[in-house]
Amino acid sequence: MNITTSPADMATALAKSFAGQILRSGDPHYDEARRVHNGLIDKRPALIARCLGVADVIDALALARERRLEIAVRGGGHNVAGRATTEGGMLIDLSLMKGVYVDPNRRTARAQGGATWREFNRETQLHGLATTGGVVSSTGVAGLTLGGGLGWLMGKHALALDNLLSAEVVLADGRVVTASSEQNADLFWALRGGGGNFGVVTSFEYRLHPVGPLVTGGLIAWPFAAAWDVLRHFRDVTANLPDEFTVFGGLVHAPDGSGEKLAVMVMCHCGPLAAGEMAAERVKGFGTPAVDAVGAMPYCDLNAMLDGAYPRGALNYWKSSFLGGLDDDAIRTMIDCFGRCPTPMGQLLLEHFHGAVTRVGVADTAFPHRAEGYNMLVLSEWTEPRQTEACTAWARDSFAALRPYMGAGRYVNYIDADERDDVIAAAYGPNYARLQRIKAKYDPANLFRLNQNILPTA
Ligand code: FAD
Repeated sequence: MNITTSPADMATALAKSFAGQILRSGDPHYDEARRVHNGLIDKRPALIARCLGVADVIDALALARERRLEIAVRGGGHNVAGRATTEGGMLIDLSLMKGVYVDPNRRTARAQGGATWREFNRETQLHGLATTGGVVSSTGVAGLTLGGGLGWLMGKHALALDNLLSAEVVLADGRVVTASSEQNADLFWALRGGGGNFGVVTSFEYRLHPVGPLVTGGLIAWPFAAAWDVLRHFRDVTANLPDEFTVFGGLVHAPDGSGEKLAVMVMCHCGPLAAGEMAAERVKGFGTPAVDAVGAMPYCDLNAMLDGAYPRGALNYWKSSFLGGLDDDAIRTMIDCFGRCPTPMGQLLLEHFHGAVTRVGVADTAFPHRAEGYNMLVLSEWTEPRQTEACTAWARDSFAALRPYMGAGRYVNYIDADERDDVIAAAYGPNYARLQRIKAKYDPANLFRLNQNILPTA
């Protein structure tokens, strides 16, 4: 029996207690509120519940359960697969819940579920503190942390999720619980890598570290003609890095829209400036760069320096996998594939893992990818809808061409909407069976399924 009633009736029912905004089709801000980062996603929720606090989340969830609505949960809305929205269901939107509260004495911060890394870094940097966050500042703290959280500080301080101390969670049955190593430890383990499968996380408590305010970092680019040498240099550089120094490499287009192809390295050294300068010299003293924008800069600026390349509303289709290694054939294939890229916003990126992120055990958290190496991201991004077919085909073809060099591991936060269930299960690797048992305990009816879904088992 379908007991959904009209959006107007549901809005009226929710409005009896709700403190935030309730939006439905036809309301002035509905169209803006239903959009997510990826412009390819075009879904129309029956109701958007823009929560102001935990009680709003509980009420929106209760109504969705009662009316049997599909439930989507939004933090920063950056998930490329568009898992933070629903067609015809209830969108529990946390984007108004942006509080970030820093305790400089304990070196911790609590962030509400709608905060972005820009907002988080701004508050923590007031005290010269930070934790690992995303490399694009508009990404949400919530989804990024629940799935992993790769970023500039991961060599020194591991992933965002490795810095999580506790989380406040609204469970499928409406109860509010704390998950930490002392309370609901099984849930706490699962939240650190299991995505949005276990409930709505209304706030996250992180461990902070002294960082900056000045760090050494930036981008250095060479002409595409030098790509072969640059990527081999990148391989040499990343073979031996101090924990403080995280370096990503790849093939990108010039940000001016000219379509000029470049080979790049982007980096952050979070240690003393003199050490950072020396480490950066090793990267920079190579060939004839076309652009050298590496130097001392505020950590907040570093965390926003790539934002312009990922505008909200651009069309995105991504494929990614961890590489077994970066041998010459893999480099050659990358260069061939990038030569055929049809969009001046397309990229092939290599995110290097080393240091602290690789010293956490595979089963210590639900996130299993702890080997030193590279995560390869085929990032197709464009603005013209008429290019959609060519740009998605390029990503698929490039991914297929690079397949022989890839391992089995996939990063859940980059998995696109068209992947099969077995790919998603493989992304959780050896932790999947344990995640399924914990899912069965906390969300047996799989109410939270618009995510990289873990199927509950007994
Ligand atoms: P949303 O789209 O809001 O949510 C993603 C998923 O998490 C959904 O399934 C949603 O239901 C669930 N969710 C969101 N909030 C909550 C909550 N409070 N409680 C429970 N479930 C919730 N990843 C990295 O690791 N490092 C990077 O540097 C990085 N850079 C990126 C840059 C860009 C431009 C983009 C588009 C993505 C990037 N990502 C990066 C990937 C990113 O981690 C994922 O897209 C992540 O899902 C974004 O989190 P969000 O809160 O913005 O996502």
